[in-house]
Amino acid sequence: MESIALKRSIFEKDFLAGIEQNQFVLYYQIQVTDNAQAIGAEALLRWQHPHHGMMLPGDFIQLAEETRAVLPLTQWIIEAVCNQLAQWSNQPEFSHLVIAINISPQQFRQHDFVDQVLSIVRKAGINPQRLKLELTEHSLIRNMDEMVDKMSALRHAGISFSLDDFGTGFSSLSYLKRLPLDQLKIDQSFVRDVLTDPNDAAIAKAIITLAESLELGVLAEGVETKEQRDFLVKSGCHAYQGYLFSKPLPLESFEALVRKKFSV
Ligand code: C2E
Ligand code: MG
Ligand code: MG
Repeated sequence: MESIALKRSIFEKDFLAGIEQNQFVLYYQIQVTDNAQAIGAEALLRWQHPHHGMMLPGDFIQLAEETRAVLPLTQWIIEAVCNQLAQWSNQPEFSHLVIAINISPQQFRQHDFVDQVLSIVRKAGINPQRLKLELTEHSLIRNMDEMVDKMSALRHAGISFSLDDFGTGFSSLSYLKRLPLDQLKIDQSFVRDVLTDPNDAAIAKAIITLAESLELGVLAEGVETKEQRDFLVKSGCHAYQGYLFSKPLPLESFEALVRKKFSV
């Protein structure tokens, strides 16, 4: 127990120092329509650790969430994305992009989350419609009413919501009906074997139909091949993200990609 506590406290110090010393960066992964137009991107966190090199969220997000580091992390990510949106707002090739941020259950449960987001959005002076928050089903299990209230307040301001990793959690249909969502994201685990596993194909199709009937948008993540994309198009999904289009990229490379290939 003591050694776990010690590890946490060392991690927390390291993490907070990382934020102060600008060791965190956002990578952007493009999201496209079926005629290959860029509609937005997902911002994905990377930690350029001075000793451990480039770290992926899988290596540190969970620990960050279990410590007080989650508070400044939330602040940093939202500020970084809003400042980027402000810079893009007067550049026609980027001003239409909607940027999605991953919000963990711990982040979303912070009591002042709504005020925190709205004050950053106001300070950056951005159009809130350019900002999308990705939640997972795990965020919504507890205190459903409180979560719905928070989502409604943010949506009222123009911010949209996507349900990430859809189909991997509890996926309760009665919950889904109550949530003020804009989009379902088909999890990459279903997309991966969509051509070889009839169950995954059926699930992907069912999610698309469900989104349609609830009047929600739907985006497939983890699309790696043209064949997977073609299957999704035929099934009625018209927005995608995945290595077929691009890996997550650092800012300059992402901007170059949007300029070159996907300009509208
Ligand atoms: P996610 O939100 O489901 O993000 C998608 C993950 O799939 C990303 O991994 C991305 O690099 C990867 N991916 C994208 N396209 C493909 C593909 O075609 N094939 C395969 N095999 N993988 C693909 P990443 O960046 O390592 O992020 C992992 C998870 O970490 C994210 O899953 C998200 O839950 C979390 N995460 C990332 N950034 C943040 C953040 O800023 N805040 C919080 N709270 N969580 C974050
Ligand atoms: Mg995500
Ligand atoms: Mg996902």
